[in-house]
Amino acid sequence: MTDRYAVIGNPIEQSKSPQIHAQFARMCGQQIDYVRILGDAASFAATVRQFRDHGGRGLNVTAPFKLQAFELADEASEAARQAGAVNAMKFEGSRILGENFDGTGLVQDIQGNLGRSLAGRRVLVLGAGGAARGILAPILGERPAEAVIANRDEDKARALAQRFARRGPVRGTGYQALTGQPFDLVLNATSSSLAGELPPVPASAFGPDCLAYDLSYGRGLTPFLRLAREAGAPRLADGVGMLVEQAAEAFRWWRGVRPATRLVIESLAVPLA
Ligand code: NDP
Repeated sequence: MTDRYAVIGNPIEQSKSPQIHAQFARMCGQQIDYVRILGDAASFAATVRQFRDHGGRGLNVTAPFKLQAFELADEASEAARQAGAVNAMKFEGSRILGENFDGTGLVQDIQGNLGRSLAGRRVLVLGAGGAARGILAPILGERPAEAVIANRDEDKARALAQRFARRGPVRGTGYQALTGQPFDLVLNATSSSLAGELPPVPASAFGPDCLAYDLSYGRGLTPFLRLAREAGAPRLADGVGMLVEQAAEAFRWWRGVRPATRLVIESLAVPLA
């Protein structure tokens, strides 16, 4: 029987994961079956167990179930524990193992694909939700000069900074306090782009050699990326590389081989213009 995998989320029709994993499987000469599952909060655990019990080997987990997936896992990796969230599951017998590859995927995209080292850089993370929580430990692991978290709800930014304080220099703040402080890397980890909105980040946050990176993807020049371009940021990126890199990590975890990602990223990329 062909090994079965799926991505679970709600909504789920927009997910690119089936397309990405089909390309990986073709490139690696592997046979897998990969589908979308529309989840529901009340029956999330039952749906996961049913998939496992009917021959499922692993799942990708997307919004809004990453926290529930963490609660459900029998065993969570260090990355998943740091994030308090799971974005990939693997079934070993009846045991559910939980991983989180979002942060590794982002760092791999920034340093490997975009050629920007994080070491010694000033990094600004906008947003203090699930995505921010998943990327902070891997970012701090690369030893930036400082990571600053800015959020509309400033208390959430401070609480998040406190949670990761042992891992490196990190502080939480509101948006207003950012004025006049330039950064080498500005990451939009808010959900503003999904609503076509602009987070209230001042133009002065984009330093002269800044990489402006929007974690959302497939939306072209978002209001955040447009502001960055107008502020003179020389390099813009969206989250398609992060998406494909985290998928490659999950594929390796499940299948024991890491697929090449460049062609897959190119096939999904939308021009940022
Ligand atoms: P959450 O709902 O957990 O967090 C939302 C965050 O966005 C909060 O900090 C909220 O601030 C902030 N926010 C929402 N709207 C605005 C706005 N208009 N201006 C300023 N701040 C705003 O979302 P996630 O963390 O799960 O997702 C964030 C983004 O990351 C999404 O675009 C998602 O698509 C992307 N993502 C991309 C991945 C990839 O592989 N490329 C993987 C995971 C996520 P407040 O607390 O003040 O309300």
